[in-house]
Amino acid sequence: METREKFDWERGCVIPFDLFTGKADGIPMIQRRLSDLAGMFSDEAAYEKALEAGDPVVYEYHAIEIPPTDGDLSFGYSVLYPGKVGKEYWFTKGHYHEKLYTAEVYHCLKGHGMLLLEDRRGDWKTLEMKAGDIGYVPKGYAHRSVNISDSEPFVTVFAYRADAGHDYGTIKTKGFRKILLEESGQPMIADNPKGMS
Ligand code: MN
Repeated sequence: METREKFDWERGCVIPFDLFTGKADGIPMIQRRLSDLAGMFSDEAAYEKALEAGDPVVYEYHAIEIPPTDGDLSFGYSVLYPGKVGKEYWFTKGHYHEKLYTAEVYHCLKGHGMLLLEDRRGDWKTLEMKAGDIGYVPKGYAHRSVNISDSEPFVTVFAYRADAGHDYGTIKTKGFRKILLEESGQPMIADNPKGMS
């Protein structure tokens, strides 16, 4: 089958994602390693120590080339592995949409995680997700996935307006206001010591 037919955004198509690994034939998987998250964890000493021990893959996702129009939907598969830097659970970089008026859905297929949300006015919220749950990220909110399991990957399928655009810079510069730490085996929300309001 030709690639053009396989991914026929004009007339419809099916993408056969592997339910457990998220891999799909013909779709590149983008990996983010610990070194890609430099400066984002709260405990810098623990981060440096973790990097010395290796540079593990923290998460993987797909960037599918869907036409970036206001009538198309972009979607993909995300696998966030379990791990911590110090007490802080592994997370995705997180981002705002460039078009702040666009929302997103995340469907959890496996694992146990949180969606960490915040908006520019200072509101924030966490959405706890287990397999089967669909989380709604409202328009105007930055979002980050956090894996709060100590053993399982947090696997989600996401979908958003294809022309939403991604703004990673704001979060990279300012950080999220809240972070998720493990305390006595339980997730705990704390203020980000590096975050600016
Ligand atoms: Mn998004």
